[in-house]
Formats: sequence, C-alpha cells, structure tokens
Amino acid sequence: MLRRGAAGDVISALLRETGAAQICWNRLYDPADIARDSALKTRLTDDGIAVTSCPGNLAFEPWSIRTGADGPYRVFTPFLKACLAAPGPDSPFTAPKSLTPPATWPASDDPGTWGLLPVRPDWAGGLRDSWRPGEAGAAARLATFLDERLPAYARERDRPDIEATSRLSPHLHFGEISARQVWHAIGHAEAAGVQGTAKFRAELVWREFSHHLLYHFPDLPARNWRDAFDAFPWLDDADGFRAWCRGRTGYPLVDAGRRELWTTGYMHNRVRMVAASFLVKHLLIDWRRGADWFMDTLVDADLANNSASWQWVAGSGADAAPYFRIFNPVKQGERFDPEGAYVRRWVPELARLPDRYIHAPWTAPATVLSEAGVVPGRTYPVPCVDHATARNRALAAYEKVKVASQN
Ligand code: FAD
Repeated sequence: MLRRGAAGDVISALLRETGAAQICWNRLYDPADIARDSALKTRLTDDGIAVTSCPGNLAFEPWSIRTGADGPYRVFTPFLKACLAAPGPDSPFTAPKSLTPPATWPASDDPGTWGLLPVRPDWAGGLRDSWRPGEAGAAARLATFLDERLPAYARERDRPDIEATSRLSPHLHFGEISARQVWHAIGHAEAAGVQGTAKFRAELVWREFSHHLLYHFPDLPARNWRDAFDAFPWLDDADGFRAWCRGRTGYPLVDAGRRELWTTGYMHNRVRMVAASFLVKHLLIDWRRGADWFMDTLVDADLANNSASWQWVAGSGADAAPYFRIFNPVKQGERFDPEGAYVRRWVPELARLPDRYIHAPWTAPATVLSEAGVVPGRTYPVPCVDHATARNRALAAYEKVKVASQN
C-alpha cells in the first residue's frame, strides 16, 4: 500500500481507517530516521497505539558492539573481531502461511501519478536494465551470487571487468533483503564448505561498521572525523569537478566508473575508491562535494556507507587509508582491469586501442592513436591533471594537515 506525506500524518490516518491497535517496524539508524521514528513513536503511543520496533536492517545493533572500555569502536579490525565473537543475529523467521486480511483494504495511492519517472528525457533505461527492485529481485541476486560467484569472491572482487560481487547494496539499503538473511545465508554456505565466505562476511561487516560510526558520530557526513583535516586547502575547481562528474578527466578508469554510474546507478567498489581518491587527491576537491554527488546518483546511496567510505578515502576518517597513499589511476587500471575490458565497455571511444595503451592513451604513438580512431582532446580528453604533478601538489597540501595535527 503506497501513501505519501509526512510519516506521522499518513500513518495516523491509516491507523484510523483500519482500526489497527498495534504497529511494528524495523529500526533505521540515520540521524534523520531516528528523529522521525522517535517522534512517531511518541505520537502514536500518546494516541494509545502499541508500537514495537525491531532489529533487521543490521546484523548487530549499533549499541550492542562495545569496546573493552565500553565505548564505540573506531577501528575496523577489532570491530570485525567483536562482531564475529558476538552471538550474531537470530535466524530470520519463515513467512507465515497466511495472514487474516482486513475486512476492507484501505485505498492505495497510484504511484504513476507521483511523477517519479523521468520522461523528457527518459534517462532511466540503463537503471531499468540493470536492476529488479523488490524482495524477489533481491532474493534472486543473493541466490545467483551464492551459486556462481561466492567461491571466487575473495580473488575477483576487486576486478571491475568481472561480475564478481553480489550487487546486493541497493537491496540492502532499501530493506528488500535484510542483513540477517544475508548473514545466515553466508553461514549456510560456510557450513557447506564453500570458499570465500570469510571475505564476504567481512564486507558485510564494513556496512555494519559504517552504521555503527554514523550512529555514534552523527556528524560523520558533514565534518572531518579528524579535526586536523579542517586545515586542508581544498580547491574550488569548477572545471575539474565538472570533468569528474561527466567522466571526462582523461583518465580512462576514472571516466569509465563515472559513466558506469551515470548509466546503471552503480559503480564497482574498486573504481569508487580510485574515482573518489582522484577527486580528493588529484583535484583537491572537498570529499563532501563528491559524497553529495554520489548520494544524488548511486542507486545504493546510503548515508552511513557513503560518508564513512568518502572519509576513509580522503584520509580524514576513522581508520582511514593514509593520506599519502595516492592511487595512480593508470596503475590501478593495469592491475584490476588488465585487458581493459571495463574501460572498453564504458569508454567506447577508446575501444580500439591496444591493451598496453588503454589505461594511458596519451602514451600511445600517433600512428597507434590514429589507427584506433582516437584524437586526443577531440574524441577523448587529454588528462585534466598530470599524475606526478598532482601527487606532489596533494602531498604539499597534506603538509598543512600534518602541521595542524601537531598544534
Ligand atoms: P559486495 O562486494 O557484494 O559486498 C556485499 C555488501 O557488503 C554490499 O552490498 C554492501 O552492503 C557491503 N559493503 C561492501 N563493501 C563495503 C564498504 N566498503 N563499506 C560499506 N559496506 C560495504 N556502499 C553503499 O551501499 N552505499 C554507498 O552510498 C556507498 N558509497 C561509497 C562511496 C565510496 C567513495 C566508496 C569507496 C565505497 C562506497 N560504498 C557504498 C561501498 C561499496 O562500494 C559498495 O557497498 C559495494 O560496491 C556494493 O557492491 P556489492 O553489493 O556488489 O558489494
């Protein structure tokens, strides 16, 4: 049943229409959701309605995993260990065979009248082709992953040219499958001796960790976790930001990621890391601008995962990648997309370049470029920054953070 409006008004109306005396929901943990649901609980309880909230969206409640000093965790590995040592979530219940329906069903709005789908232009074709939203689509994704990809997951998960990961992230975000269901499915695979389960479980725990951080540190989306990063000399580079958003930086792996995102609403994790690092370190653009853009464009946009991941890449976050580890987008491409299949798919104007130049077209001799139909600056951009120069500039900028952290 679909309704829209302020949650309190819509739900109160629905309770009146149905005469329901009890309401149950699964808890959410973003600051805005907590505020909304707490207000709702108070209002409904005052109206004499029994309210029950349940765990389900996370395998572990953010307050249930505590350090020895009884505080929240700030570092991933001990958090992972604590989760693995904890009792773990109950197995999901099987769905009841039947439920008593109400005498008359309250009316549902017709979402077709909400004007949600893009029309002029209809830019959502790639999203429709890539996803099957809903519970059945989520269950099918998990089943395919367990059957076909889990055994090679640990080895291939970093390869954007191979469909090696689960693609469960939007389904988890929208509650179409629960962390509990996935957790127990991994347990069954583990018991059957399937390889790859430990790595996959650890990734699921990264999601738990991000929510744990956001719950305990609600400023995570807005403020540098490490205050010293407030001294970072971000640039207001409008051209650089536009090139990055549009997949026209001149670095094929970065551009392929942006275009995969634009078409499907998804970007492979390795490419997210390289693209985010490029924005923050090569272009010196504030991670919050990149995070906002991701929130606007990803189908799995998730405040906790996105904020924690951006801060991790920027070096400003909890347990973050050291700032001075600056991804070289060419080397990353050569390592994780060795034949350039991912770049060829998403940057077709480079498709005819030989493998050895696919991640660095500017190094190809003129004859090779011409045979491949590539005209630098016309059919494909020249690099918007030189890697070595950008690296040195980023390290110099980081010195300001180092000085601030010593004061
Ligand atoms: P799999 O490899 O199959 O992993 C299974 C599940 O584990 C994922 O569905 C996801 O729920 C969780 N997971 C995996 N990696 C991470 C991670 N690094 N952090 C937190 N959870 C993880 N993920 C989002 O769900 N929403 C976001 O908005 C988001 N923004 C990101 C921004 C940046 C800059 C980076 C580097 C990563 C971001 N991630 C985000 C994390 C990660 O890229 C995606 O969760 C993953 O690519 C989803 O693909 P998958 O379901 O096939 O993952």
